Amino acid sequence: MKKKKLIREIGEFGLIERIKKQLAKGYKLPKSYRSIVVGIGDDAAVVETEPDKLLVATTDILIEDIHFDLKTSPPYDLGWKLMAVNLSDIAAMGAVPRYGLIVLGLPVDTPVETVDKLIQGALDLAKKFKVFLIGGDTVTSPDKLVVNLVVWGVVPKERVLKRSGARVGDKIMVTGTLGDSAAGLEILQSAGRLTKTDWAKELIKRHLRPYPRLKEAQLLGSRRLVHGLIDCSDGLALSLKFIGQGSKVGAKIWADKIPVSGALKRYSAISRKAACSYALYGGEDYELIFTVPRDKEKETIKSIKKISGTEVTSIGEIVPLKSGFTLVDDKGKVNKLKAGGYEHFSVSPKNKR
Ligand code: ADP
Ligand code: MG
Repeated sequence: MKKKKLIREIGEFGLIERIKKQLAKGYKLPKSYRSIVVGIGDDAAVVETEPDKLLVATTDILIEDIHFDLKTSPPYDLGWKLMAVNLSDIAAMGAVPRYGLIVLGLPVDTPVETVDKLIQGALDLAKKFKVFLIGGDTVTSPDKLVVNLVVWGVVPKERVLKRSGARVGDKIMVTGTLGDSAAGLEILQSAGRLTKTDWAKELIKRHLRPYPRLKEAQLLGSRRLVHGLIDCSDGLALSLKFIGQGSKVGAKIWADKIPVSGALKRYSAISRKAACSYALYGGEDYELIFTVPRDKEKETIKSIKKISGTEVTSIGEIVPLKSGFTLVDDKGKVNKLKAGGYEHFSVSPKNKR
């Protein structure tokens, strides 16, 4: 077998040159972006700003053995996910993404091919949403792979979506299905026979290749349908708490209304954990959780479905702060919604986000 070329053989500048070429392929700047005045190759990138629009910026980092395990995450998927988690944050503000800066911290014996694939994964998703990578940084990391992305975009002032606008009586809605990603991770970590089945592959894909709900969020913003919105990265329970904290309200949801996929139902029969517990406490689904006025419920479901094909499900309602957070079980019993979800620094980081 041919020996793999390592990044130490081509060095920092060789690697940057390679990335630059890869990023330039098949990219045409849409007119609405105005212009990239200075791209890769100077000390900083310079782009023209767009009049009458607010700038929205976000960044997320993925660290080997905290956010991913190279044994179960192929480099392409890692690049894709890096782009997806950042774009999901842009979506959650109702914005349209424009540009990105990518930072690579690489052990010296990383194969060049790993970097090629990583960049390609990020680039393929970036292209779908016309995001241009216009710079970054490339450095040595002592031991683990670290990748970081900064993305920024634009949004008209009146379309900004925040966590803080939910009102008592609002309906709580969710795009797509929840819990798949956490189940996919569990299957990957168990590394058993299950990974061969179609439904397990579907769950694993949801974990490795999340898809940001940009289209849906922009639509919600443009139609002014939403009061409060968050992207679900740390589980439904925590997402609701964040909306609650931001808006000074509580929430009541129904367990049997939480949308879960057929694949998750199959897996939960084997794992013997309720499907809704993956949705509530799993995380990394990158679906949108949002609230709309009661009289906009039907319109919201219909218009999102029509324009994006995405299902939206109503799972509960916003209640006064003093009523707290409750979960109605399938027998109609109202229980306090247990806290939980992922939080850095609070648990052992091994294989956790
Ligand atoms: P400096 O020494 O000023 O930090 P660098 O040598 O790090 O500059 O970067 C040179 C150029 O290459 C810059 O335009 C920078 O944005 C770009 N660049 C560096 N690393 C990457 C990367 N991983 N992806 C894209 N562009 C990069
Ligand atoms: Mg540098």
